[in-house]
Amino acid sequence: MYLKGVGPNRGDTLKTELGIHTYQDLMNLFPNRYLDKTKYYKINELQRSNADVQVVGKIVNIKTVEQKKGKRLVASFVDATGQMELVWFRGQKWVRENLKLNEPYVVFGKTNWFSGTFSMPHPEMELLSEHEKGLRIAMQPMYPSTEKLSNKGITNRVVNKLMQQLFMETKGQFLETLSPTLLNELKLISKSEALFNIHFPKNQELLAKAQFRLKFEELFYIQLQLISKNIRRKHKIKGVVFDQVGEQFKTFYEHHLPFDLTNAQKRVLKEIRSDLGSNAQMNRLLQGDVGSGKTIVAVMTMLLAIDNEYQACLVAPTEILANQHFEGISEALKALNIECALLTGSTKKARRRVLHEQLEDGSLHILIGTHAILEDKVQFKNLGLAIIDEQHRFGVAQRSKLWHKNSIPPHILVMTATPIPRTLAMSLYGDLDISVIDELPPGRKPITTVHRYDSNRLKVFQFIKDEIKKGRQIYVVYPLIQESEALDYKDLMDGYESIARDFPLPDYQISIVHGKMKTEDKDYEMQRFVKGETQIMVATTVIEVGVNVPNASVMIIESAERFGLSQLHQLRGRVGRGADQSYCVLMTSHKLSAEAKTRLETMTRTNDGFEIAEVDLKLRGPGDIMGTQQSGVLNLKIADIVKDNEVLKTARFYALKILKDDPGLARPENAVLRMAYEQLVKHKNIWTYIS
Ligand code: ADP
Ligand code: MG
Repeated sequence: MYLKGVGPNRGDTLKTELGIHTYQDLMNLFPNRYLDKTKYYKINELQRSNADVQVVGKIVNIKTVEQKKGKRLVASFVDATGQMELVWFRGQKWVRENLKLNEPYVVFGKTNWFSGTFSMPHPEMELLSEHEKGLRIAMQPMYPSTEKLSNKGITNRVVNKLMQQLFMETKGQFLETLSPTLLNELKLISKSEALFNIHFPKNQELLAKAQFRLKFEELFYIQLQLISKNIRRKHKIKGVVFDQVGEQFKTFYEHHLPFDLTNAQKRVLKEIRSDLGSNAQMNRLLQGDVGSGKTIVAVMTMLLAIDNEYQACLVAPTEILANQHFEGISEALKALNIECALLTGSTKKARRRVLHEQLEDGSLHILIGTHAILEDKVQFKNLGLAIIDEQHRFGVAQRSKLWHKNSIPPHILVMTATPIPRTLAMSLYGDLDISVIDELPPGRKPITTVHRYDSNRLKVFQFIKDEIKKGRQIYVVYPLIQESEALDYKDLMDGYESIARDFPLPDYQISIVHGKMKTEDKDYEMQRFVKGETQIMVATTVIEVGVNVPNASVMIIESAERFGLSQLHQLRGRVGRGADQSYCVLMTSHKLSAEAKTRLETMTRTNDGFEIAEVDLKLRGPGDIMGTQQSGVLNLKIADIVKDNEVLKTARFYALKILKDDPGLARPENAVLRMAYEQLVKHKNIWTYIS
């Protein structure tokens, strides 16, 4: 309100609409685009892209055209290369009285392509003679705005004026926030120069330099914060030390490992072992595509805990998954002398009592289950390791419960099959350590994915019959979206009936699983399919996560256009687990949005989860994907986490390098960094959401 041109009213509006409280906030309100007035277009160079353009020419006549409601004023505007129209719907009288015929004008505005001619509604106009005399801003900044702002008269022009005022009052001199070393090495322009050119760019080149400098700075300080938080965490939060690789691990590795580990699995195990041997608590995210073999890594990590006289637990998001893990893991460990148990919501009271006792006296080594494990009454003698499968289903609050299950917090390994593009992972989980299994076990045949229209259903049914004849099993999945639940259930039941007609008893057996069924019924149907008693599983997305039926080799996804990319990829991951060639068929109607087409095209092109995640990120934007619109890291002022990937990498590289040599930023050459960093942390706690 103290800036000339603002005052209490506008001050309030700026506060509520744009969160601007201080001069500094206003200074950091960056334009989201620029109108380039450095270029003059010829009429025959105009494109039908509806962009803003600047053209020099003359008005050769003006006429009023009657239309359904009122009239419009149309001027014929020509240059040496062609003709276009200038159009006014408002203020026609003024225009008629003031515009001069046959005088050179510079016009600026958006063009529309309409019945064979370009027209420019309400152009900005200036006589060429005036234009040449005047002092012009070549690149006109366009600031973020809201409806309220423009209603209250705070137009782009006004914001522009406020910026000018701000620069006058501050003389355009701002404290440098990056160290001389960084400025030199990266050839960055100074803070003052960058701020000036972001608001009043002299030309494209300086604008690009200003943008780079400010984006770098923004991402650099985020990385600096995340990395130093990680370093501090490792200092502060001691972990239990697993310093020996003992009997269990060795016996398993040498005699009972069912296959050779892939190089990626070996590398990840090494990373985990190095964490466990240090005396800091491990807090690691393990990313690996569906089927990449995360479970065996989990098992071997648990063996390390047991070898060091600690207990371990594994938490899965659903009962079906917990069951599968329990069966698979007890099978893998049956030759070893290890006690392993299952705890879920349906574990009976009497059984629970026994489990609680065995956990507390330490006779139970491994507990596998659902979030039932998180309940406070589940106490361990000495929990040394907690593994969480499919991390995206758990909230931070739930995870924190695990921390309190031992006097020293257990090591935490979070496994996810929803690959997060590295750029995003680095920013969102910058304070976690990340391991990636980027290699599938050998011998996997890539899944063949095709897109078919509903009209080809009969052919698809024939294909299913052929596969069943070969002894294979089939999934048919229907979408279930909360907003249209009733309709979706109807689709599912209709689909089920039509499949039951085409695949009649006794030749075919069909299972059905959906969210409205009782748990026992679901499990019963699921088990029939797992045991191979039924050939077809009709289901909603409940089977999305983790279910493992190696003999199932065909995944039919109905209304595939309604699924998101990561969900499609997860579903597809249910097949391709055995030795047979597997297929995924994406069924859709003929009506497809451009985005749906991109999703289908991506699915048929690639099996690579990381590539799919990148496309997803571009389609939906980071906030949507992570469900973290609130997260400070996505509230960037100038950098774009998707587009500025390279800048982010550079920023991270330098942040790491600086903190490695000087974790406390205590050296004189880093004084500038420490000052800026402390300012940031003090003023705007945009970091608090990140973790
Ligand atoms: P995910 O990462 O999706 O949890 P799993 O751990 O369930 O994957 O592994 C998928 C399948 O691949 C399992 O049947 C598992 O036995 C098998 N598998 C895992 N690692 C290897 C390997 N190195 N060589 C051969 N098969 C493997
Ligand atoms: Mg798994």
